[in-house]
Amino acid sequence: MSATEFDIIRRYFACQDTDGQVGRDDVVLGIGDDAALLTPPSGKLLVVTSDTLVSDVHFPGETSPESIGYKSLAVSLSDLAAMGAEPAWFTLSITLPEADEDWLEQFARGLFTLAREHSIQLVGGDTTRGPLSITIQAMGFVPEGLALTRSGAQVGDAVYVTGTVGDAGAGLRIRQGKLTISESESAVLLDRLERPSPRVDAGVALRGLASAAIDISDGLSVDLGHILTDSQVGADIQVNSIPLSEAFQKLLLPDAIQRAVSSGDDYELCFTVSVEKADEAREKLDALGCHCTKIGTITPATGTLRWLDHAGNDLHWSTTGYEHFSANVSD
Ligand code: ADP
Ligand code: MG
Repeated sequence: MSATEFDIIRRYFACQDTDGQVGRDDVVLGIGDDAALLTPPSGKLLVVTSDTLVSDVHFPGETSPESIGYKSLAVSLSDLAAMGAEPAWFTLSITLPEADEDWLEQFARGLFTLAREHSIQLVGGDTTRGPLSITIQAMGFVPEGLALTRSGAQVGDAVYVTGTVGDAGAGLRIRQGKLTISESESAVLLDRLERPSPRVDAGVALRGLASAAIDISDGLSVDLGHILTDSQVGADIQVNSIPLSEAFQKLLLPDAIQRAVSSGDDYELCFTVSVEKADEAREKLDALGCHCTKIGTITPATGTLRWLDHAGNDLHWSTTGYEHFSANVSD
């Protein structure tokens, strides 16, 4: 290693003045001491989430360092979004195989680009040597009583999803060389895989409106399943309503919708909302430029997720998603 651990921290992560780090008033003491000192606002709950990204597990090893930096923070911001939290601070624990300064510079560029966009400040972390792995702990705030959780869905609520699903999964197959399509479409899908846009504003807008919410990290099927389990309800989903992007549809994949609901990494929000509040929720998201689509309804059939065709027939799909400790079948 040419640069020392302390050089790395100073040059790439503590760069408050040079690289445009966010400078928040509620950070009393940031990077540099044994721990950070932070001022949480009164009347709000602190929302804390942590995610680890391991090379060749969470991103293909050949992913650009800039995209790795961007995505590492995006997945944590997406968790804050799903709770309805406004982002505030994060820590970065990074394990690096070597002190490659080009790599670090690009990684930091991707990371801080997204951090600035969401006014979230890096306040500490840890730097070690070993196989590439990145852990980000993100913190944010939500007013007491307004957090979005997985457990509030009620029978009769509508089920919505933001944006489109399946794009990141298709992007991964392109990255792996399993799909070949025109350059412009593959760029769109790869971008969705490597630079996901966490729905932070949408999550905040859904406070007091959505009855339950989750971000789609493991796949719509699996993640909606979490809402159903935690809320002790079921859902009927109209498969023809599942929103698919133009680029995804152009792939003309066999079983396109089944793939779209089984593949992860889209970082869209899936939420439920009562019939009375649905219009307001949709209008608020539209005003943010975040399109959302009603895909189904919550039913009393606890834990049962049914996929229905246009005539209302149960397709009896068995859908999967990503799960680290079972053998994931992927082609
Ligand atoms: P200690 O040994 O007391 O835990 P370190 O030497 O690990 O402290 O870190 C020194 C300072 O640099 C601390 O404020 C720590 O939070 C910060 N830091 C270390 N690594 C990172 C990183 N990757 N990103 C941001 N801050 C970091
Ligand atoms: Mg110490």
